[in-house]
Amino acid sequence: AEEGKRRLGLSGGQQDRDGEQWRVGLAATLRKAIEAGHLRLTFQPKMCIGTGEVTHVEALVRWLDPERGPIFPDQFIPLAEANGSISDLTRFVVAEAADMIARLRANGLTTGVAVNISTNDLADPAFVEFVAETLRRTGIPPDALTLEITETGLIEGRTEALVSARRLKALGLRLSIDDYGTGQSTMAYVEQFPADELKIDMSFVMRMTDDRANAILVKSAIDLGHALGLSVVAEGVETAGILTALREQRCDYAQGYHISRPLEADDLFTYLSASREG
Ligand code: C2E
Ligand code: CA
Ligand code: CA
Ligand code: CA
Repeated sequence: AEEGKRRLGLSGGQQDRDGEQWRVGLAATLRKAIEAGHLRLTFQPKMCIGTGEVTHVEALVRWLDPERGPIFPDQFIPLAEANGSISDLTRFVVAEAADMIARLRANGLTTGVAVNISTNDLADPAFVEFVAETLRRTGIPPDALTLEITETGLIEGRTEALVSARRLKALGLRLSIDDYGTGQSTMAYVEQFPADELKIDMSFVMRMTDDRANAILVKSAIDLGHALGLSVVAEGVETAGILTALREQRCDYAQGYHISRPLEADDLFTYLSASREG
């Protein structure tokens, strides 16, 4: 990825030199890019460790600029959050994910789709209304849609985040705490938050087989999640050894390159149909 970004002039010296100009230009073009259809979702499977079944996928946004080539989310999400255009992006992603859920169902697949939302979205009361509207428009079952919010985002947003989360929960959506372990949330706060799922950050998962401290951290996150009645997902599962270790620790779901890379919509259908046939 680093090599790709370098070739596209998205990192290193290039960005330092043109940094500010690039930032301003990017923020201004995001809205246009959405309208022009340059943003697209890819879908990464979350596999049930016990059964091998893919019951959910995570939608990850891709910006394919005709001139610049692919621009990665880490490059433009923080800018979109800073300039307010994140709410357009989130609405686009939620609408596309809901359409995907409807398409999957039309093909006999009950796979759920998760999307990433930001603290700004939870602070915006109109967002809950948009989600409700999307559910009415598509007629999908609300629990087929999961909203992932980072642990850090939860703490930053605190009060508003809790209020919005409870309203979204009342609509029947699933809520997931993302990048768990990177924030400083207290057990009391996690307990208060109406989550269904806990995702252990990949920085801990990736090193769990060669570092005892990380193994302990992963194990305690799994136990905490289970004690709170949450389903636990480990992300960044890159090797068979990590998957085995997670199975031994009774982790519920695994997501990562060892299971599958993020897939284009058409490839997702192929992947799900193949795994359904065994
Ligand atoms: P995230 O939500 O933690 O998503 C996981 C990221 O790790 C994705 O990067 C995914 O492609 C990558 N990944 C998955 N499995 C592996 C693995 O086994 N090894 C490694 N090294 N990486 C793996 P991506 O797609 O570049 O997204 C980066 C971040 O950008 C996401 O982190 C999320 O915070 C944000 N993001 C992506 N799509 C959206 C979106 O639609 N809206 C918002 N607000 N944020 C998004
Ligand atoms: Ca996520
Ligand atoms: Ca994550
Ligand atoms: Ca992350």
